[in-house]
Amino acid sequence: MKRIVLFGYRGTGKTAVGTVLARRLGVAFIDTDDLVEKRSGRSIPEIFRSEGEKRFRILEREVISSLPSSDCIVSTGGGVVMDPANMERLRAESISVLLHADHAIIGRRLARSPRPPLTGLPPDEEIVKVIAARQYSYAAASDFCVDTSRTSTEQAANHILCLLEKGTISTQTRESVFRWFAGSPLPLQEREQMKSLLVGPCCNPQTRFLGVAGWPCGHSKGPLLFNRLFEKYQLNCHYTRFWDPSIHTIMEKAREIDAKGLSVTIPFKQDVMALLDEIDESARKIGAVNTVVFACGKANGSNTDWLGIRKPVENLAGARAILLGAGGVAAAAAYALLDLDIDVTILNRTPRKAQALAERFGCNWSIWDAFDRIDPDLVVNATPVGMYPDTSSPLRDDQLKKEMTVFDLVYTPPVTPFIAAARKVGCKTITGTEVFIHQAREQFRLFFGIDVPETVIREILA
Ligand code: NAP
Repeated sequence: MKRIVLFGYRGTGKTAVGTVLARRLGVAFIDTDDLVEKRSGRSIPEIFRSEGEKRFRILEREVISSLPSSDCIVSTGGGVVMDPANMERLRAESISVLLHADHAIIGRRLARSPRPPLTGLPPDEEIVKVIAARQYSYAAASDFCVDTSRTSTEQAANHILCLLEKGTISTQTRESVFRWFAGSPLPLQEREQMKSLLVGPCCNPQTRFLGVAGWPCGHSKGPLLFNRLFEKYQLNCHYTRFWDPSIHTIMEKAREIDAKGLSVTIPFKQDVMALLDEIDESARKIGAVNTVVFACGKANGSNTDWLGIRKPVENLAGARAILLGAGGVAAAAAYALLDLDIDVTILNRTPRKAQALAERFGCNWSIWDAFDRIDPDLVVNATPVGMYPDTSSPLRDDQLKKEMTVFDLVYTPPVTPFIAAARKVGCKTITGTEVFIHQAREQFRLFFGIDVPETVIREILA
């Protein structure tokens, strides 16, 4: 058998359920908090009191790096999910089960706990606050979710054993969802893979599915990148294409197949928002979602595009920028640049849209011809100008100066006419591929809590 790792907030029953599971399966039970206490010779309240949470997290990381890799049940501390290094080790070759429970029930269970509070807040408030702060990390930690609010320890263990044996998708659902995939424009090889995984010889109840949701989405490098990362991090997952003109249908199929997550692309980044249970603050402000993570019956939406745009220009904090375009990706770009205290002026072919976007974010806007008066340090192209097969550039070559940094969000072709012109002048350039790399890295973290080194993504995409 594989290793089973139990995640969840304190009081969700990890130790009790894990002990029963280990007994039923005849394998060892390991509680990482117990190991920290044994190795340090002190209780967790003592470690917190004398050296603080930081020291506890170091000890916890050491313990996790020394765990056996199979044939055991591991119960983890509630905050373990916040550390990507822990998640990488705990998720490899393992089945992750997230235990959760109603806040009031957790409160009652913890009332007699000797463990120290993490904040100075009253216990009930702390539960709400800490779970809210960790909710995306808990979602990332779950292959399966079990609500222990109203179950006995034995019942929760039975539930997990049943999930391991049968998974969450019935044979009938597997067949009907496969028919839907087979009717979509999925490339032949990917369709054969889905056939084998859903209804064929590689069918495994523990395999989790993810995919890119778009129309079209044949161009997406997501399947290549994510499937290679699943191999590298030893995750029992498969990434495919949810290729359909209706985001309603895609979300329905994703829920039927109990998908772990979706990367949302054109033309659904706005429309998907109405179909989600929770949307994080950045995505709400930008007005677009490109990442959906399913956990515990809920669909959570986030936006990693803005992080992908922010990363390559984070050394330009305080600079003066012109943002060309006022559409969907321009909103993510404006949010990213303003987050870096960059002075942003939006120019757009249709000026009223530049004005509307600038008013939403509290930055400047102007007519396209104002470019030469502004003398920017950074120019960001958020229009499709120069996208294959278009060979034009959003600016004339003589408008570029070698002191400028030119950032083209268009990534097909990898070197656009705009980037080629800027390189000729001697400008520093950033291509749209950079955005894909950094946003995918953030997306992987949202899906699994693991931080992939940038170099690994570059090697796969090379
Ligand atoms: P969108 O919502 O349709 O917005 C397009 C914007 O470009 C609008 O402001 C539009 O101006 C302007 N525009 C269109 N054609 C133009 C032209 N010929 N001359 C000047 N302006 C023009 O599209 P989007 O989702 O923001 O995507 C824009 C581009 O960003 C895409 O084509 C894609 O290449 C790129 N992108 C890259 C990434 C990445 O990861 N690197 C991610 C997403 C998008 P009007 O308001 O006047 O129509």
